[in-house]
Amino acid sequence: MKILTVIGARPQFIKAAVLSRAFKEHRQDVEEIIVHTGQHYDANMSNVFFDELDIPNPAHNLGVGGGSHGENTGRMLEKLEALFLIEEPDWVLVYGDTDSTLAAALAASKLHVPVAHVEAGLRSFNRRMPEEINRVLTDHMATLLFAPTETARVNLLREGIAAEKIHVLGDVMYDAALFYKARASEPAWFAGSGITQDQFVLCTVHRAENTNDPARMEGILNGLSASNLPVVLPLHPRTRGKLSQAGLAIPGNVTVVDPVGYLEMVWLEAHCKLIATDSGGVQKEAYFHRKPCVTLRDETEWIELVECRVNTLVGTNANAIEASILNASLPADFDEWLYGDGNSGMKIALAIL
Ligand code: UDP
Repeated sequence: MKILTVIGARPQFIKAAVLSRAFKEHRQDVEEIIVHTGQHYDANMSNVFFDELDIPNPAHNLGVGGGSHGENTGRMLEKLEALFLIEEPDWVLVYGDTDSTLAAALAASKLHVPVAHVEAGLRSFNRRMPEEINRVLTDHMATLLFAPTETARVNLLREGIAAEKIHVLGDVMYDAALFYKARASEPAWFAGSGITQDQFVLCTVHRAENTNDPARMEGILNGLSASNLPVVLPLHPRTRGKLSQAGLAIPGNVTVVDPVGYLEMVWLEAHCKLIATDSGGVQKEAYFHRKPCVTLRDETEWIELVECRVNTLVGTNANAIEASILNASLPADFDEWLYGDGNSGMKIALAIL
C-alpha cells in the first residue's frame, strides 16, 4: 500500500512522527511518502523536527508558504493534484486543521483518492477561525476519520458523517509525549537565564484571533506582567512580527526566546509551574505533563480538559489572566486517560492497513 502523507506545519510534524514510526514497523506492507507543503519553512519551525524526531526526509517539498490563506491553499492544491497524478497513492494521509490539510484533502478527493484524517472531529464552533473551516471541510471529504475523543466522534455524527467511517483510537500527541519524554533536553540558554525550574510560566501565543488583534495581545502581555512570575515565551514568527507592528513592548518578567524544538519544548513543559497558551496541542501537553493550563482563548476544541478542571479558559482580559495564573492548580482527582493509552499511532496505522 502506498500512503502519501501531506504535512506542512509544526504540530503536523510531531503527529506524523508517531505514525511514521508505526509504518516503519510494517514496512513490508506500506510505503510512506512524505510531502512537505512548505507552509512552515523557518529552520526552527520545520527542519529541527525532522532532525530530532526521526521523520523520513520529505520526498517532495512544494515550497508553498508565506502567502495569504487563499493564496497558499490554491498553490498547494495545484501542486498536490499534479503530484498525486504522478505518485498514484492508495491513500492520502492528513493531520489536523491547517491549509495543507485542506488542500491535500481537496486535491485527493477530486481524484477519488481516499483520505485518512488524523485528529478528526475537533470543533471550536467558531467559524471565524481558519482552522475551523479547514477541519470541517476536511472531515466531510475524508473516508477514514480518526477522532481522538468521544466528544470528537459526537461532533462528527451531529454533522451527519457516517458512523462506520469514524474510529476513536486515542490521540497521537499522547503517544509522542510518552515516547519523547525520555529524550527531553534542557535548552542551552535555560541555566544562564536566572529562571528557576518549576517556578516559571511557559507561554505560547500564535492564534490569528490573538496575534491579529493588538487589544487582545495587549491584554495577554498585561496579564503576564501582572502575575509577576517569570514567564518563558518561545515566540512564533507570526507573533513576533505582529507585536512589533503594533508597537507592543515585552514586559520585564517575560523572557522571549526563538521557537524551540520539540525535545526542548517537552523539557520546558515538564519543568514549568504552569502553562498559558492559545495553542491546541500545548493545552493537551500541559495535561500530559500534569501542569495546570490557562488558555488564552474564548473557546477550546479540547473541552474535556476544561470539564475536568485542569484547563481554565480565560480569554485575553488582563485581570482574568493574572487571577487564573495566580490561582491555577490541579484538582486532586486527576483523570489520566482522556486521550487513549499511548498506542494510538500503531492502532491508526493498522486501521489504515
Ligand atoms: N512546540 C514546539 N516548540 C515551540 C512551541 C510549540 O515544539 O516553541 C510544539 C508543542 O510542543 C506542540 C506543537 O508544537 O507539540 C503545537 O504546535 P502549535 O502550537 O504551533 O499548533 P496547534 O497545536 O495550536 O495547532
